[in-house]
Amino acid sequence: MASKIKVTFLGTSAQIPTARRNHSAILLTYDGENILVDCGEGTQRQFRKAKLNPCKVTRVLVTHRHGDHVFGLPGLISTLDLSGYNKTLYIYGPKGIKKFLENFLGLGYVKRDFKIIIEEVYGKFFETNDFYLEAEKMEHGIPINAYVFVKKGQTKIDKEKLKKSKLPSGSLLKNLKEGKDIVYEGKKYLAKNFTYSEGDKKISFILDTLDNEEIVPFVKNSDLLICEASFMENSENGKRLAKEHLHLTAKQAGETAKKSKSKKLILTHISQRHEKNLKEFLEETKRVFKDSSVAEDFDIVEI
Ligand SMILES: [Zn+2]
Ligand SMILES: [Zn+2]
Repeated sequence: MASKIKVTFLGTSAQIPTARRNHSAILLTYDGENILVDCGEGTQRQFRKAKLNPCKVTRVLVTHRHGDHVFGLPGLISTLDLSGYNKTLYIYGPKGIKKFLENFLGLGYVKRDFKIIIEEVYGKFFETNDFYLEAEKMEHGIPINAYVFVKKGQTKIDKEKLKKSKLPSGSLLKNLKEGKDIVYEGKKYLAKNFTYSEGDKKISFILDTLDNEEIVPFVKNSDLLICEASFMENSENGKRLAKEHLHLTAKQAGETAKKSKSKKLILTHISQRHEKNLKEFLEETKRVFKDSSVAEDFDIVEI
């Protein structure tokens, strides 16, 4: 049975955290990997509240170096060290992140007995037989990446067809699964007739950005699109302010989900200014894309 991809929202606020929402952090868990997307201030306590062990983090994807997305890193790293973290921690980010983090993490006394590798990434930057991670540049005044996690579709044997064929199990089936045609008792069996692809599973992360042409192709066909929405067009100057501050509106997030043919949209990076009218805020998105919701801290989604 294939493992599910689990997404836990550890922080869903915009620049200023509130009693209800912590700074940005999202954890993607899949088959031994615990990939943290951004690490705003207080993220390590959010792990505890969610009853998750921060020592399980394998990789951190930093979208950009604004405080609400990275101020939690020194504290998290310090705790990992105190807890005997003994793996290599991989931190990925946009151009300039290496120098920034080296300075930033070197500011205070951050004792560290484990290895950290910081990489500036663009395009596909990590791949196993089962999944890959990819980055794309967004627009936010400073270098910023959006990320996708793609679990590759596996080839499966069509059990009904197999039953009818009376083919024996064993190495012949392995060949079919690998796309190789086989011959059994003088008869040829074509791999394409006995197999089907399960399809990719794609989770996309769009944090702070101005609406731009790269978004839709990058997040195309997402099973889950997690997208920032910091402003609302149906409010005074909402659209203009989003443009000025290089952010998306609730409507633009909906349009992105619709144009990219994504299956499900979850809004995050929620400003305190919209907390009182969240229903109306979400309505703006839903008018464009129905399967939308607003993330709350500690929400869990499985794909
Ligand atoms: Zn932000
Ligand atoms: Zn930002």
